[in-house]
Amino acid sequence: MALLSVIVPCYNEEENVHYFYEELMKNEQFFKEKQLDVEIIYIDDGSTDDTVAEVKKLREKDKRIKMVSFSRNFGKESAIYAGFKKAQGDYVVMMDADLQDPPSLLPEMFSYLEQGYDSVATRRVTRKGEPAIRSFFARAFYKIMNKISKTDIVDGARDYRLMKRKVVDAILSMGEYNRFSKGIFGWVGYETKWIEYENVERAHGETKWSFWKLFLYSIEGITAFSTAPLAVASIMGVLFCILAFILIVFILIRSLVWTDPVGGWPSLVCIISMVSGVQLFCLGIVGQYLSKTYLEVKKRPIYLVKEEI
Ligand code: UDP
Ligand code: MG
Repeated sequence: MALLSVIVPCYNEEENVHYFYEELMKNEQFFKEKQLDVEIIYIDDGSTDDTVAEVKKLREKDKRIKMVSFSRNFGKESAIYAGFKKAQGDYVVMMDADLQDPPSLLPEMFSYLEQGYDSVATRRVTRKGEPAIRSFFARAFYKIMNKISKTDIVDGARDYRLMKRKVVDAILSMGEYNRFSKGIFGWVGYETKWIEYENVERAHGETKWSFWKLFLYSIEGITAFSTAPLAVASIMGVLFCILAFILIVFILIRSLVWTDPVGGWPSLVCIISMVSGVQLFCLGIVGQYLSKTYLEVKKRPIYLVKEEI
């Protein structure tokens, strides 16, 4: 028998814990056919509702259920990492608790592993049910990201992935503190099959990602998988040096030929404020990378466990 580990990150998902389990278990027949043992690992990401109690209730009924509970909310990326660490399966799959990653796709995904693929990833082709402005920024993010990063990051990709042990081990070997899974999956490579599906709306509760949280997460993604902004900063510096040189020559000649007295104060103020703006902007970019390095160097744990079952 092979073991399949199902990782479910949960942050305040009390209504979904049970519902998810039921949906997943509709695949029971398929698990039997393929001789798969299953372990379901709920990662409680510091929930403040009854998520933990719900998981424990399930555990009474089904001993295949496991749980890692964090000491506080560490974020989905940490939950994913904890799940990978805990998982013992020969195959590992990660799914959201809100059923936006339909468990009914599992048999199809598994069939690709049998065909020889190392991992099967999913991507939603529509973003229906999502605010238009959020879709717009998400699209823009993926466009920019793919221009400035060598790592392939697919638009609409979900974290819903089924993979073989070797891929999981590769991901675990990346112990970085600033985690951006979509980039990490792309970075480790391996033979990946993409399957597409229509966006499914959340079963219960509300999304845990505010626009601001997503914005910060996108910066996380950029700094983790691209150093292009640093190059932009340098290029801007060079351009402004060239511009300054041309201006100096122009002003020198003008004052030698026409002995122009004081004048041009407004233009001077404009130039000074613009250049200092650019300087601060570039300093900010450098600061972003420095802060990431700072956090990385501290080697803080990615998550802390309060309780484990
Ligand atoms: N999640 C988590 N920690 C967080 C935020 C979210 O573990 O800090 C989990 C959440 O419980 C869900 C999954 O990550 O199972 C996806 O979150 P959500 O559905 O809110 O995101 P969306 O689908 O809207 O992108
Ligand atoms: Mg969701």
